[in-house]
Amino acid sequence: MVSVSGLRGRVGEGLTPEVITHFAAAFGAYVLRRGPGKTVVLGRDSRVSGPMFARAATAGLQSVGCDVVDVGIAPTPSVQLAVEDLGAAGGLAVTASHNPIEWNALKFIGPSGMFLDAQESAEMRIVADGEVPRAMWRNLGGWREDPEAVERHLRRILAIPFLDVERIRQRRFKVALDCVRGAGGTIFSRLLDELGCEVTAINMEADGLFPREPEPVAENLKELEELVRTSGADVGLATDPDVDRLSLVSDEGRAIGEDYTLALAASLVLRHRPGAVVTNLSTSRLLDDVATAAGRTLVRAPVGEINVARRMQAEGATIGGEGNGGVILPDVHLTRDAPVAAALILQLLAESDQPLSALAAAIGRYEIVKEKLPRPSQPLDAVYDALTAHFPEAEADRQDGLRLSWAAERKWAHLRPSGTEPIVRIICEAPSRDEAVALVDTLRAALPA
Ligand code: MG
Repeated sequence: MVSVSGLRGRVGEGLTPEVITHFAAAFGAYVLRRGPGKTVVLGRDSRVSGPMFARAATAGLQSVGCDVVDVGIAPTPSVQLAVEDLGAAGGLAVTASHNPIEWNALKFIGPSGMFLDAQESAEMRIVADGEVPRAMWRNLGGWREDPEAVERHLRRILAIPFLDVERIRQRRFKVALDCVRGAGGTIFSRLLDELGCEVTAINMEADGLFPREPEPVAENLKELEELVRTSGADVGLATDPDVDRLSLVSDEGRAIGEDYTLALAASLVLRHRPGAVVTNLSTSRLLDDVATAAGRTLVRAPVGEINVARRMQAEGATIGGEGNGGVILPDVHLTRDAPVAAALILQLLAESDQPLSALAAAIGRYEIVKEKLPRPSQPLDAVYDALTAHFPEAEADRQDGLRLSWAAERKWAHLRPSGTEPIVRIICEAPSRDEAVALVDTLRAALPA
């Protein structure tokens, strides 16, 4: 499956070393054509198929004349930061992010350390669809290791100007940690050690043998909830295998949902860095409330990390990200970063005399309901026109599907077609579950056939 965010497949089925080599070579050729430079940073999460695919990617990159700098097992944000630090021409992350154990994927990174956007991906695809130009023997690319990428990433986080390391250390926070046997073990251990935390951790082995579904959503965090309760932790932290999403378990031992990670982080950052906040169209209204309380505006971009990051650049935003636990802090870089999120949450706790459960409760609570509807036979633009006309009191946003919001009632709905199935996904959020379900039903009834 090839999309804006990269190439993804099941190991041994669609995804083979041959496919990886081809796309790595195409990416290398695209990078060389784009210029300047020929260095490509390569990193991977901990998946069992990772070493095989990293070698396949290396062969593809060298075959077109790119010099590979291999950072080994590393968080995707560490790979992205290494592209910036080394002034590389691009980067490749071999990771299927939060997807189950049988998946792997390639993520393509431009010279800015940000993922390729839709236009850049399309340019890369044109190279991939043609005959990839290979190098002759004397022009083959080189290969070297760079074992310092994670440590440089850590240093960058500790240097966030408003992060008061001494103040956090003095609190000696008890932290429970679940790295799902992904790539996060090293950086999280080092970070929490530097911040003086007393850590109880599970699933720290970076062997890719995920002991549970690796997406850090509340229903997958039962073991961490238990660990928080038994260890009396102030907070539980869970990340996904490639370490760009962070979920929190409160001091009460309850997974509070990924939406709170960005909302809480934003509430902290806006104290120190007043500015615009950017998120995607499907992220909880919790963030509107945080931005409003700080006297700031919330700007919404189409779904997809790169869309949020690009809009943050354009708006000069000081904090942004996605409701799935993906926090983007431009002080470090314009990409989702779980250890950055963890540092911000610990700073928030250090500045407060309240526990995490109280801080989350103070932000508020909404209920989100997700539904799939059969795709209408009419063109979707006509469907969106009809719905917009049917709800004249709602504010309509057509950047990415249709988002209708009712600010006074503090509710919204977002409709988008699935890229892979003949369905329309609908997400509704409201202050109560009954209201959210009612909103789904209202929209369903208003949908033209
Ligand atoms: Mg991820």
